[in-house]
Amino acid sequence: MNKFTKITASIGPNCEDCETLTQMILAGVNMCRLNFSHDTGDVQGKKIDMIREISSELNMPVAIMIDLQGPKHRIGNFETEQKYPLVIGQTFTFDSDPTPGNEKRVHLPDMDVLDSLNVGDRILLNDGKIEMQVNNIEPGKVDATVVRGTEIWSRRGFNLPDTEINTSVLTGKDRADLEYAITKKPDYVAISFVQKPEDVAEVRDFITQRSSAPIKIIAKIERQNAVERITDIAAAADGIMIARGDLAVEVPYAEVPAISRHIIRECRKMNKPVIVATQMLGSMVCSEFPTRAEITDVANTAYLRADSTMTSEETTIGINPVNVIKTMANILSHADADAIENPYDWSRVEHIPENDWSRSVASMAYLNRASAIVVFARDTIATTQIACRKPDIPVIAVCNDSMIANQLCLLRGVFPMFDTELFGMRDGFNAARQCHINMGKLVIVDEEKISLRTMD
Ligand code: PEP
Repeated sequence: MNKFTKITASIGPNCEDCETLTQMILAGVNMCRLNFSHDTGDVQGKKIDMIREISSELNMPVAIMIDLQGPKHRIGNFETEQKYPLVIGQTFTFDSDPTPGNEKRVHLPDMDVLDSLNVGDRILLNDGKIEMQVNNIEPGKVDATVVRGTEIWSRRGFNLPDTEINTSVLTGKDRADLEYAITKKPDYVAISFVQKPEDVAEVRDFITQRSSAPIKIIAKIERQNAVERITDIAAAADGIMIARGDLAVEVPYAEVPAISRHIIRECRKMNKPVIVATQMLGSMVCSEFPTRAEITDVANTAYLRADSTMTSEETTIGINPVNVIKTMANILSHADADAIENPYDWSRVEHIPENDWSRSVASMAYLNRASAIVVFARDTIATTQIACRKPDIPVIAVCNDSMIANQLCLLRGVFPMFDTELFGMRDGFNAARQCHINMGKLVIVDEEKISLRTMD
């Protein structure tokens, strides 16, 4: 049996050829992430086609997630490309004047952002290396006091951890990207800089108005106000990504582990899959070996029973993307095995109602020492609920719809089998045998019926 924790791999210049992608999928990639902050349109479309072809050739379901850039804010250009000095305590101005900036001021292209700021709000630039605090607001301009940082230059990204930004979660670019991407039927769409459940509803409306395909939505949690509303956002979305890159800028970095644990727990309660993202094997962008801290981070994600880890630059621009996936899969396999050897800790289901049927499935499997749970997956709902009980035995999802099989790839411990004939047999044994489970008891879930069968 494979690792239980899934791997989401970001696809970029160093891994978008057919050979590398095939090797990565064979090494353990369960979901490919296509980041629309970089390529868009047909360039991404061709990658989607290639992943679908490889998946069908290998007869291995693989999910595809497109990741929209979202309202990532940047300051305008300066008079030259050089770095401009900043002095702690000085005032620096952001304004609506499009002329190039200097050591005193710079253009802020996004007027909605200027309008959202309040006196006292922090402005973090360049991944938090520069911090300023708003001290004065006038029409078309905001003055801020420099609190941290020594230099500023063109096009730095900025974060506003204290500000509720009154813009749509979909920029014009996102709308164009999504309009195109929908035609390629991705399994998941990830939305960046979600602030509230209404953002998810807005994207869902956009999709359902254009497609009847049941495309699922992943909300990226990277803002403080999203952390505060995680339960409502998880309820509105189909899954969550803990986007630790921007999150560690927006919240005090020391709080990121606690926030991650909290989000993983909330997702479990809400029956939503959760992906832990960013810098998991960051050093492998230019090294063949992970650091000890990275090994532990990846393993801890498995111990917390999150659904998926994620690679970013490690695979998009790293020196050896296949080795990154092999390394990640190796760490996950060891951590999963160790986590599973420990007795099931029932306190982990304390918030799931006693009469929840998926809890009965997990209990039946546990009490009977079943070797697997086989679910006939007409949709993703039952399998997702069972997976979120973290039963620590394989959940074999028998699917006769390829999109359902692909979407279930993301779930921890779920092994989707896509085969119309298998579905027809409906005894679960063949599915289990195909997954090399040849002995012991099986819990079989078929619509409302839950049964226990012993394999010969
Ligand atoms: C992140 O911020 O951790 C993240 C995954 O988002 P992006 O790579 O789009 O910045």
